[in-house]
Amino acid sequence: MRYEGNIYRPPSEARSLIIQVTVGCSHNRCTFCNMYKDKKFRIRHKEEVLLDLDEMSEIYGELPLRIFLADGDALVLKTEDLLDILRYIKIKFPFCQRITAYATVQDILRKGDEELALLKKEGLSMVYVGAETGDPVILTHVKKDVTVEQMIQAAEKLKRCGIKLSLTLISGLGGRERLKEHALESARLVSAMKPEYLGFLTLMLEKGAPILSEIRAGSMTLLTPDDVMEETKLFLSHVDSEGTIYRANHASNYLALKGTLNRDIPAMLAQVEEAEKRQGYKAERYRML
Ligand code: SF4
Repeated sequence: MRYEGNIYRPPSEARSLIIQVTVGCSHNRCTFCNMYKDKKFRIRHKEEVLLDLDEMSEIYGELPLRIFLADGDALVLKTEDLLDILRYIKIKFPFCQRITAYATVQDILRKGDEELALLKKEGLSMVYVGAETGDPVILTHVKKDVTVEQMIQAAEKLKRCGIKLSLTLISGLGGRERLKEHALESARLVSAMKPEYLGFLTLMLEKGAPILSEIRAGSMTLLTPDDVMEETKLFLSHVDSEGTIYRANHASNYLALKGTLNRDIPAMLAQVEEAEKRQGYKAERYRML
């Protein structure tokens, strides 16, 4: 098995077999993200990917495992190549329970409904999309290069084609300066997209992330744990996305929260208030990406 560079995967794919179908991210411009800045983007040759699957099937082929297609945006592959990979997985891993991948909004919109429906039919059951925020000002500022409208269109398209959506937002992405807008516009975005899953990370910056220069220059102020709680309360009090599984229990979060929207919002708000009173936050040294 040939992995190139650091490999990232969503927390819920911790036990999945990771198959690298691209190296890096084709977008690679987001100013808060340093994940693939050291990699020159390329799509791996399909034959190499199939060889990895051959090799891994000798060890795991009879297991009821999950497979995650890395790196940053597997949907950038030509649909026929991705279909070949999905079909090969079915042959080599007959008990595979699900196949998932990261996807950019641009990649989802570039594919036709028929293509996405076919990908679903051949096994792609869910994609992870980093929306990061619903605030158009922050979206432009962090160079996400997508609009709120495009994100909503992408969610509608996935729903039509039967592919589940796991959406990620980042607490603190607007700094103190846009805390309120970030919380309220993100609540509005999620209410419109109604993803099956929603994950909140809390902004943590690694060396080399371009946004660090703004923080050093004083034009953006990082949130304190109390600020993050204020943002979380604003978000939870305004979101309306019945049935969405909500998780804010990533290693970067100051407080672990989980529940189902909208049912568990009052309980989660009470948990946030209790943590504020006790100042019961994860210590900075235990936070990680
Ligand atoms: S946040 Fe996602 S889309 Fe943006 S550069 Fe990082 S991997 Fe690529």
